[in-house]
Amino acid sequence: MVNITMYGGVGEIGGNKVLLEEGKARIFLDMGQSFGFGEDYFAGFLGARDRFGLRDYFELDLIPKIPGLYSKEMLEGTGYRYRKPAFDGIFLSHIHFDHTWHLRFVHPDIPVHLGKGTEIIKDSWVTTSRDFFGDHDFQTFRTGDTIELDGIEVEPIHVDHSVPAAYGYIIHTKEGAIVYTGDFRKHGSHSELTEDFLARVKEEKPIALICEGTRVASEEKRKNYTEAEVKSHSKAVVKKAGKKLVVTTFYPRDVDRMRTFFEVAKATGRKFVVSSKTAHLLSALGKDPRITLPDVIRSKNILVYIRELKRYPSWEKDFGKKAVNAEYVRKNQDKLILQLDFFHFSELVDIQPKKGSPFIHSKSEPFEEDDIEEEVKNNWLKRFGLRQHQLHASGHCSMEEIKTIIEDINPKLVIPIHCEEPELFKSMWKKVKLPVLGKTFAV
Ligand SMILES: [Zn+2]
Repeated sequence: MVNITMYGGVGEIGGNKVLLEEGKARIFLDMGQSFGFGEDYFAGFLGARDRFGLRDYFELDLIPKIPGLYSKEMLEGTGYRYRKPAFDGIFLSHIHFDHTWHLRFVHPDIPVHLGKGTEIIKDSWVTTSRDFFGDHDFQTFRTGDTIELDGIEVEPIHVDHSVPAAYGYIIHTKEGAIVYTGDFRKHGSHSELTEDFLARVKEEKPIALICEGTRVASEEKRKNYTEAEVKSHSKAVVKKAGKKLVVTTFYPRDVDRMRTFFEVAKATGRKFVVSSKTAHLLSALGKDPRITLPDVIRSKNILVYIRELKRYPSWEKDFGKKAVNAEYVRKNQDKLILQLDFFHFSELVDIQPKKGSPFIHSKSEPFEEDDIEEEVKNNWLKRFGLRQHQLHASGHCSMEEIKTIIEDINPKLVIPIHCEEPELFKSMWKKVKLPVLGKTFAV
């Protein structure tokens, strides 16, 4: 028998934490944090007291009390007894924080398996931010590798998602194959990766499919484009911009989008001015021969925006010759596409974009009406006369695609995850197990 317990990703998008046990083997698939994590108790400057490890998180039932998972240090102030690590490994599907962010609580001796590219992104992220994944025994794999642990065999296979090095998994157990999709899509720049995964999964005739359902919803609230459409529409926006600056914002690790805007810049005779963090990530990933990316140092079409700071982090120095500042952008508006993240909007004060400059919002539209960040963003856009265009390709399959995928794979059982309306899976497949948070079930 294989036991499955889902400690996250149940009735919500993200926060995936799936425990899979067979015989002696005990593995976790992802160790994520929910999007709304702690929002019932924390706001503004009121947050968990991280100096006490898991104390506040346990007291408020924000993190499950799982024996043998957490480090000694994290348990110290909690009153819970430390136990030796009791898991064979944690397998990450990709780097996004809703799949990785609780690694920081985990015992350092539990091996963390991740794709080679995921490790590169992690290291770049740690260098350029203050974020911390924790010290772990990180073990990297590539598609084609398999990892054997206490009688089960884990086979990672690449999928396409809005971050490079995303993987789905086939877990070979004595009962048969159990599949975990991670997050995936078919309309991105590398749909062939997802096709490879699906073809391999189909061969295995899985006994269970743990399937993400981000867009499995009674109503699709957001407009979604393919990556190719984002590119062609953006190109049209840039062409119309004339003498004006083009400003864009996208998710900080959406490398496909970076490539898209780089190509748009090239095609329209402009240069793409990226943030220093983006430049660092592109340079780091560029060293991976399996990922083709624009070369920050050599390409004529990329510049790196350096903000005026009192102290510059050492890693920013690498971009010396490519570095430009607000004054340069102000004087060369008709020649540039500028990446500007929300947290750097105050740069607009120095850049002074020409009235009517287009702003391409290339990430998900928020759909909560009282979204404060959205309101603040709109105030800045209005103040500086920027005109917004919404152009984004989702990282996830549509509901129709999920249905077709399930039918094609023909698994014995479907287990929804990463989905706000998991019961909708019942309209798509004959045998669906709706998991309950923290409750073990057998397959
Ligand atoms: Zn996710």
